[in-house]
Amino acid sequence: MTSLLEVKNLQVDYVLPRGVVRAVDNVSFDIQPGEIVGLAGESGCGKTTAAHAILRLLRPPAEIGGGQVLFQGKDLLTLNIDQMRAYRWRHISIVFQSAMNSLNPVISIGDQFVDTFQTHEKLRRREALERAAELLRLVGIDPSRLRGFPHELSGGMRQRVVIALALALRPELIVMDEPTTALDVVVQRDILQQIQDLQKRLNFAVLFITHDLSLLVEFSSRIAIMYAGKVAEFAPASELFHHPAHPYTVGLMESFPSITGERRRLTGIPGSPPDLGRPPSGCRFNPRCPKRMEICPAIEPRLAEIKAGHAVACHLYPESTPRAGRA
Ligand code: SF4
Repeated sequence: MTSLLEVKNLQVDYVLPRGVVRAVDNVSFDIQPGEIVGLAGESGCGKTTAAHAILRLLRPPAEIGGGQVLFQGKDLLTLNIDQMRAYRWRHISIVFQSAMNSLNPVISIGDQFVDTFQTHEKLRRREALERAAELLRLVGIDPSRLRGFPHELSGGMRQRVVIALALALRPELIVMDEPTTALDVVVQRDILQQIQDLQKRLNFAVLFITHDLSLLVEFSSRIAIMYAGKVAEFAPASELFHHPAHPYTVGLMESFPSITGERRRLTGIPGSPPDLGRPPSGCRFNPRCPKRMEICPAIEPRLAEIKAGHAVACHLYPESTPRAGRA
């Protein structure tokens, strides 16, 4: 079966006066139709940059240095600007972290839907507003709000409007970049529940980006953990939760409390992520890793399957250690 999205060896560079900083380095993962895949890691690990590269939303000094972004088998990186515009929103849309920054504050909610529809379809204003009303109902907002402006809505309602806008053209994939981070916990839970319900009903796939791994564990089917621009581990969510293999994933798991399990001390991960302008040699996690071995600063581990569907980049697993003559 063709993947809905296949990201292969993606590289994104920031070309700065002090030199080139590789923010996304050889990142590969896939998303199947109707699947929710999580992308997690600390701030600055490259997850948002990777997502923006998929949608070709990067601005200078960021540029794509290599790789492929195959959407239904077509490499989005080979499309010209007009072709990419036609893909964006119709096939892949995005929900940004801050709804206030995504919505135009001086245009009514209704007109923002009309603009979205009319950019992609020949639709009369009245028809566009009817479809917008349907979408607002879908996310639990009274269609009378179409006449209002973003500042008249609560943070949670604004984020729901942004989700409705992302659904407007019924895309096959929605990238959600920390869509609930700016909201309080109760509203966050409501919105996540709603995303899950909508996803089941409309069967779109989601790339869900967050620094909150606990959230992904219950929300997604598979999770990619990123560290310092690279994928450290990629596995089904339950496998990652019960058998995290990479010491960084283990550290992330130990950074959030369990509600049901035994009480235990939260240990977290000592130190901070590296400067990507001068990343550590070998395994990039080695200065912070409690399992560090002699080989770790010398040779970079490669992402390799340690069991079906579970890939890790760590020398604790022989599959990850490149050997002479082995790719
Ligand atoms: Fe730790 Fe070495 Fe594995 Fe890196 S390769 S995560 S330093 S054990």
